[in-house]
Amino acid sequence: MATFRQAPISRSDFEIGILCSTNLDYTAICLLLDDCWDAEGNTFGRVEGDFNFYVTGRIGSFNVVILMLSDRGKASAAAAASSLRSSYHKLRLIFITGICDGVPGTKGEDGELALGDVIISKSIVQYDLGRLYSDKLAIKTAVEDSLGRPSRDVRNFIAAMSTRPHRKALEKRAAAHLAQIQKEAANGVIYEYPGSANDVLFEPTYHHKCHHSTECACTDDPSRELSCEETGCDHNCQLPRQRFEDTKRLQVNQGWVLFFGKIGSGDTISMSGIYRDQIARELDIIALETGSAGAWDELPCVIVKGVSGYGDGHKNNTWNNWQNFAAATAASTTRALIERYPSTDKTHIMRNRQVYDACLKDLFITDPEADKLRIESTKGGLFEKAYNWILTNESYLQWRDNAESRLLWIKGDPGKGKTMIRIVND
Ligand SMILES: [Zn+2]
Ligand SMILES: [Zn+2]
Repeated sequence: MATFRQAPISRSDFEIGILCSTNLDYTAICLLLDDCWDAEGNTFGRVEGDFNFYVTGRIGSFNVVILMLSDRGKASAAAAASSLRSSYHKLRLIFITGICDGVPGTKGEDGELALGDVIISKSIVQYDLGRLYSDKLAIKTAVEDSLGRPSRDVRNFIAAMSTRPHRKALEKRAAAHLAQIQKEAANGVIYEYPGSANDVLFEPTYHHKCHHSTECACTDDPSRELSCEETGCDHNCQLPRQRFEDTKRLQVNQGWVLFFGKIGSGDTISMSGIYRDQIARELDIIALETGSAGAWDELPCVIVKGVSGYGDGHKNNTWNNWQNFAAATAASTTRALIERYPSTDKTHIMRNRQVYDACLKDLFITDPEADKLRIESTKGGLFEKAYNWILTNESYLQWRDNAESRLLWIKGDPGKGKTMIRIVND
């Protein structure tokens, strides 16, 4: 693939946007940039009234603009995406990365869905669960709540990527990118695979709540922040996992795979296995996530989310590690997808190159050879000897004779003949 390495000139040179939902995938995707255009400060600015904070860089042949959403709701994502579109009006495609809850039992060619797998959206449907903690569930989705289908460009791209040869190639590339993230991650952030022994799936009817025989402090845990170890969730109520049994032993290596399908997007996170399964059945979705619906309305999007939970409220002690790992697998897959996205706008790139070259040429105000000819013909020749002193100057000789020298700096006030030295001795 031809790579466009020229630094972009303006915001018009950006064709791909990446919306990150968490600090984790934002950090991970930044580790995968080939170039960062903001290493020395914000380079490209934004339009008035846009309050997004952008980081820009290059991934393969694309200039990309990265934005972290400040909160998870649909409205916030919609506002951010709308501003993004105003500032970067030539964007062709947006990738929304982050983490999601997977629907257990989802089957792919490589077996059932597991934590760390990545879901790529074929389409998206909105749901509103109202009060998820209550015992009643009414999925509020009607035709008007459903989002439009993806653009033809996105549909064709995703349809091709979901075929076996492309999917396998994507998985291979993404695995290499994950290794890079894991190698370069700093500040104690660990993106390692937590191991299939910690990939715990409970029966849908088995709730995450206090399972102690007597009343205890965790009986009412409104925030649901306690871990399964603390609430006493019984591991005997786990469901067997065919995928791990097929490998004859628990996996310690990263056996994550890609799934393509319909994603449910809501403002609330599902905390019940029963509700999750009901939504999944009714809406025919393979994952649940928050926020993306807002951006989907604004721009052509592909949602790429790593599975960090099962939407049943259970959280074991490795919960945080799964979030890190899933954010990293999603970022890795996003990069692999960008690498395969067709770059058809060659003329645009070439036009920029020409503008860039023209600017560079203009910076060299005159051509010494042309100046010499001009002076010889109009002024009758040059006082060559007046400038010959430089030819014996020690600094000049060092510069001329040392292959390592790059720069000879001649300084002097205007009109003292710096240019003439260059012209006469050229
Ligand atoms: Zn308890
Ligand atoms: Zn639990």
